[in-house]
Amino acid sequence: MKLHLPLLITALTSSYASAFSPSKASPLSCTPRARTAPLREKIADELDLPCEDECALKSFPNLPESVHPGVLSGQAMMDLLNHAKENGYAIPAVNCVSSSSINACLEAARRNDAPIIIQFSSGGAQFYAGKGLDNKNYAAAISGAVSGAFHVRTLSEQYGVPVILHTDHCAKKLLPWVDGLLSASERYYEKHGEPLFSSHMIDLSEEPIEENIDICKSYLERFSKMGMLLEMELGITGGEEDGVNNEDVPLEDLYSKPEEIYMVYDELSKISDQFTIAAAFGNVHGVYSPGNVKLEPKILTRAQAYISDKLQDKAPVDKKPVKFVFHGGSGSDVSDIQEAISYGVIKMNIDTDTQWSYWEGIKKFENKYHDYLQGQIGNPEGADKPNKKYYDPRECLRAAETNTVSRLDQCFKDLKCQNILGLGDAKSAENVLGPRRGGLPV
Ligand SMILES: [Zn+2]
Repeated sequence: MKLHLPLLITALTSSYASAFSPSKASPLSCTPRARTAPLREKIADELDLPCEDECALKSFPNLPESVHPGVLSGQAMMDLLNHAKENGYAIPAVNCVSSSSINACLEAARRNDAPIIIQFSSGGAQFYAGKGLDNKNYAAAISGAVSGAFHVRTLSEQYGVPVILHTDHCAKKLLPWVDGLLSASERYYEKHGEPLFSSHMIDLSEEPIEENIDICKSYLERFSKMGMLLEMELGITGGEEDGVNNEDVPLEDLYSKPEEIYMVYDELSKISDQFTIAAAFGNVHGVYSPGNVKLEPKILTRAQAYISDKLQDKAPVDKKPVKFVFHGGSGSDVSDIQEAISYGVIKMNIDTDTQWSYWEGIKKFENKYHDYLQGQIGNPEGADKPNKKYYDPRECLRAAETNTVSRLDQCFKDLKCQNILGLGDAKSAENVLGPRRGGLPV
């Protein structure tokens, strides 16, 4: 049995301990860990999983010491987001619906030497649990997201990349979903000294702004006890996503006002600095034909100037006090995306483009092997030839993954989120089992 002694010693003495200061007293007990403040422990250590190369890293050459492989929360997460803001890049936040889509994200993050945000929508979380499972009281959406969280936690360590584990839009009627996830995080925190999820989005943009802020404040209070971050939405992201249709909202609602952004910033700051704002600057969910989307990234820089002016009394003045989130970026010009990043966008959501890339991978696979995919037996090489190796679902799913990894390469490039960790190129994957017997020609 491997003890990973150097890692354990580091975990007890350095970055992990400073990564997060718990505000909740740990119960007294005779176990060594409970005598001190709760400490983050790798799942690999906890379960004695193999953990070599990137997995064994305590930190990354180019990032603050608190940032480590695996899921981040608390100060480590804030250090990463501040690093993004100061260095002018945004982290891709990809909606995932299966272990396959999560693995594509982790592979892409390592290939790009970069951090990533993995997020589940309520519908994506429900799908993760299986559409055959009853979702009464959001049971499937809660358990599906928790199941996905454990997948991300285990494998992000193995891929050796830092991950922020997040959930996407949560409208008012969906609050019981986030309540369920928060309960899970609170239980997890008692045992591990960190929450199960890094952050959640609460989207009350359809409610009056006062109610939006009040409810967000009460959640942020609960979040801040565990070092979790809140993403809130202000104004409306146009278009349609995950069953929410904002295709016909009045035009002025698609653009947030600096006064509103300041009001949110001021109120939430009273509780914690661990929040981000998804402000509206003409962004639209989904991809539409050119000319239908008028992005106004300057709204963000005007808001930053307005707020830093208001904060002048409280030195030192941060010229970009707000961490913005960019929803509905699919189909946007790279110049607009990069302009928004220069104004303090540190996270951009990616859903539509990877939905397409995943499907396109399967489409290309089917095109290439069409004649081998029409029955279990019989193809152009002979009427009695078996087709098992073509219709094995691993083949078309892997095609979906590799096509998605390529699309994500483009996202990382557009968001200037490459070569951030300082690990250099990823080694090509070694498969000790060798090529699968009868695998497809490459
Ligand atoms: Zn969104």
